[in-house]
Amino acid sequence: MKFFENVAKQIFNNEGIKILEGHVAYSPEEAVAICSEMGVPVVVKAQVLTGGRGKAGGVKFANHPGEALKVADEILGMEINGERVKHLLIEEKADILNEFFISVSIDRAERKPVIMASKEGGIEIENLAKTNPEKIIKYHPQPLIEFLPYEAREIARKMGVSSDLIAPIGDIIWKLYAVFEKYDCEVAEINPLVLTPEGLVAADAKLEVENDSLYRHQDLVKMLRYKKKAVDFVKLDGDIAVIGNGAGLTLTAMDMIKLNGGEPATFLDIGGGASEHIINQALNIVLNYDPVKVVFLNVLGGITKADDVARGVIKALEQADRKVHIVIRLTGTNEKEGQRLLEEAGIPYEISMEKAAKKAVELCDELSAE
Ligand code: GDP
Ligand code: MN
Repeated sequence: MKFFENVAKQIFNNEGIKILEGHVAYSPEEAVAICSEMGVPVVVKAQVLTGGRGKAGGVKFANHPGEALKVADEILGMEINGERVKHLLIEEKADILNEFFISVSIDRAERKPVIMASKEGGIEIENLAKTNPEKIIKYHPQPLIEFLPYEAREIARKMGVSSDLIAPIGDIIWKLYAVFEKYDCEVAEINPLVLTPEGLVAADAKLEVENDSLYRHQDLVKMLRYKKKAVDFVKLDGDIAVIGNGAGLTLTAMDMIKLNGGEPATFLDIGGGASEHIINQALNIVLNYDPVKVVFLNVLGGITKADDVARGVIKALEQADRKVHIVIRLTGTNEKEGQRLLEEAGIPYEISMEKAAKKAVELCDELSAE
């Protein structure tokens, strides 16, 4: 079974291999929200199981949220080697000084694992294997004997990297081999492993686990299941963005807006138990949607905790690069703490949904009259 890059990276990271901060997006709007939240130039990467995304145009850069919208829109739905792109990884863009290649796979002819490594990593690795095979170092660890750190360093030395990189690259090779063994892999690969001013990080990750041993790696199978769409988002024709926790509550909030003579600009359901990060992401989605004049956030905490909501709101408003008019209704689990946090940040809120909806419509009317 092959794993998407974002999952493979998590698994590598669990073994101590450094990765860059990143989040998954299912729509251009989510990509924008993530980019706003990270506040840095980002890489937008198609999540497909085939390689060669870079060459196919499935890896693009964005310097600001507007660019993220454009490139995410270009990449989503694209077909790469026959595979449709349904989600993206939005990752902090690394400053690359150097790209290396390291991989562990099965050498069927030798009936052993093989480690391959090169100091010339990146998207041209297949060509390098054809034109300059001597630049790819091959090493067969003994499958029944423990693979030792000094062997890994010896591979790094043979790669011909500078002497200060032998130990850290050796360490990553050793950890990658540990992943390979632990999860009964067919392939565990990092191409490129990049050198940045902050050190070495896995800029890409490939992981393939032998199907017959999946039964003993249920933790991996679970990781695949955990990530659903973060938020449910529908664009509508009005100018009041409606955000709620749970589809029923969000629909009710929309009805309330309508009842007071307003028009919803979005239906956005953050679901149950939304974290601070999801709240922040949801707000960023609507704040980057131009027709929105007022945001109506309607939260009745059950599994969702009011204090998490408050923290997400505060963070999003701090980061927003335009003035946001928001009306918040916040009650339920941990409401005291949530309301206290909002008061401390000077953000008003309501307890009653009816009142809040009315206030949102009035505010929107005032803004339209200006
Ligand atoms: P692949 O083509 O499917 O293997 O996708 P990769 O994830 O390997 O990305 C292709 C290429 O994009 C890499 O070899 C890098 O040159 C470039 N790239 C990927 N991530 C970053 C990044 O964070 N910063 C920079 N500058 N380049 C990146
Ligand atoms: Mn790659």
